[in-house]
Amino acid sequence: MKQHSLRPLFTSEEIQQKTRALARKISADYRDGHIIVIGVLKGSFVFLADIIRHLTLETTIDFVQISSYGSFRHSTGSCTLKKDVGVDIAGRDVLVVEDIIDTGETLHFLLRELRKRNPASLKVCSLVDKPSSRTKIIPVDYFGFTVGDNFIVGFGLDYDERYRSLPGIYALED
Ligand code: 5GP
Ligand code: MG
Repeated sequence: MKQHSLRPLFTSEEIQQKTRALARKISADYRDGHIIVIGVLKGSFVFLADIIRHLTLETTIDFVQISSYGSFRHSTGSCTLKKDVGVDIAGRDVLVVEDIIDTGETLHFLLRELRKRNPASLKVCSLVDKPSSRTKIIPVDYFGFTVGDNFIVGFGLDYDERYRSLPGIYALED
């Protein structure tokens, strides 16, 4: 299998620190609430697993999976819901957890779908924000890191299903 060169961007310690800070902020914002946390599969599962363990809130956890079309690097906007949540979100506080927001097309589609179900509130928490190739305006309520136009892997993020289990985040060099 081809070995890519991986340039370290964020260490496991930096990610943990950031995750704890985000969880503190989220816990304070919702105070003693009960939120529905929706992870976007597959990339967000590592970040989600870490962040929920630092929340001082009651949580219901569920997942969606979205197919998006385009090149491996960027979505083009035609998205479909491949797996839906199994809970009713009407009247509930919902927090969507993503690994990375790139063009914004995936989240734009998902937020539109979820809004139709009348949640009491709908916010977004993404580990990484990559604002340079945004084609849709997405209100990102919480994010950990900002990256430039790199393709990144590790901590849940893959390249062709590889590298998800790396504890840090790396830029794929070629
Ligand atoms: P968007 O729809 O915002 O363009 O892309 C969102 C999805 O594309 C992310 O959830 C992620 O799965 C994938 N993606 C975008 N940029 C990257 C990246 O740098 N690395 C990886 N591994 N996936 C990415
Ligand atoms: Mg994703």
